[in-house]
Amino acid sequence: MRRVSILGATGSIGQNTIDLIARAPEEYDVVALTGATNIKQLAHDAIRLRADVAVTADETRLDDLRAALHGSGVEAAAGTQAITESATRSADWIMSAIVGAAGLAPGLAALEQGTTLALANKESLVCAGALVLETARTCGTRILPVDSEHSAIFQALIGEDMASVERIIITASGGAFRDWPIEDLPQATLDQASSHPNWDMGQRITIDSASMFNKAMEIIETHEFFDVQPDQIEVLVHPQSMVHALVGFNDGALMAHVGPPDMRHAIGFALHHPYRQDLPVERLDLAAIGQFEFRAPDEARWPALRLAREAMQAGGMMGAVFNAGKEAALDGFIAGQIGFTRMAEVVEEAMNTVAASDGHIAATMTLDNVLEVDHLARKAAQAAIQKKAG
Ligand code: NDP
Ligand code: MG
Repeated sequence: MRRVSILGATGSIGQNTIDLIARAPEEYDVVALTGATNIKQLAHDAIRLRADVAVTADETRLDDLRAALHGSGVEAAAGTQAITESATRSADWIMSAIVGAAGLAPGLAALEQGTTLALANKESLVCAGALVLETARTCGTRILPVDSEHSAIFQALIGEDMASVERIIITASGGAFRDWPIEDLPQATLDQASSHPNWDMGQRITIDSASMFNKAMEIIETHEFFDVQPDQIEVLVHPQSMVHALVGFNDGALMAHVGPPDMRHAIGFALHHPYRQDLPVERLDLAAIGQFEFRAPDEARWPALRLAREAMQAGGMMGAVFNAGKEAALDGFIAGQIGFTRMAEVVEEAMNTVAASDGHIAATMTLDNVLEVDHLARKAAQAAIQKKAG
């Protein structure tokens, strides 16, 4: 039996992971499941999968969690510290699927105990790529990418020599507003931004897809994880979301990864690695699909792409600023404080403010320093939101 834990078990990635694990319960010994607000789902899954412990990030919900687990034998815990501790419990495989920079510390804790980390939490790589990869190296552990584009790149690179890679292309559906007139974007509502044409995901990443902040983060994720230069990474708008990424080699070959927009493929690949196993995903009928379209992204429509390149160029802790600024701007949009197109302006302002402050971008990348810069960037973004809202 493989001992597995799922951080962010109640979310979209977490639930897809549970779907795969619950199909073969005899193969898995579930150690920890974590969530935040959705206590009912957390307790339900912890009981049916016989987890050792269920943890909510929200301390005020501990009593509710205890009540929901009563008599089941599943231990209950609460708080961000308890989540990080749950990642130190011995396991063979841990899914990192908390949303936001909150996933960084538990992911590092998982790596430090020597576990294979299936990484959906792209924010970890955006805000602390060097730290995460160095921790994996020094602890002799392996990170398997779960973001669909990065799983696709990883698969296209199997057996290849990185020295022969010329470029990496990641695709983007273009999100909810791909075909909107650009002048309508400032009026886009939360409901409109929260619906994705192809993927069924958590609300935050769905809005990030509409603003292209998701793809912007994924450019940084590609740069960090595969150690390729920013100018080797391209984005291509591909409305069908079936070609997830392409790797271009020095002999002119492009290796594309093609599959249905179903995260259970990337999750299942990471779960069974290094083997391929039967997965419950649709088999594509390419003759019925008929056509794949590709087009260059319009950076005027999606300024997030430019900001990601500026963050990579600045280097150091700018990724943490970019991510935290984006999280705060997204909070502001969800709360109705700023309009859709203001998000990129807020992120840019946060980047400029922190860049102008002494020594923060060039600071050594430790968890504490990342959290400090994250805090500063959120403050700068909130100030920009207040200004914009006022
Ligand atoms: P969801 O919003 O659906 O789920 C997020 C999970 O994190 C939930 O379990 C939630 O708990 C928990 N959570 C929220 N806030 C905190 C916190 N402060 N501390 C601890 N736990 C918290 O997100 P997704 O599943 O969509 O995304 C998860 C990660 O995977 C993100 O980094 C995303 O970018 C990445 N990803 C997602 C894809 C997708 O298809 N969904 C595709 C590729 C990458 P609760 O729900 O109980 O409140
Ligand atoms: Mg992705």
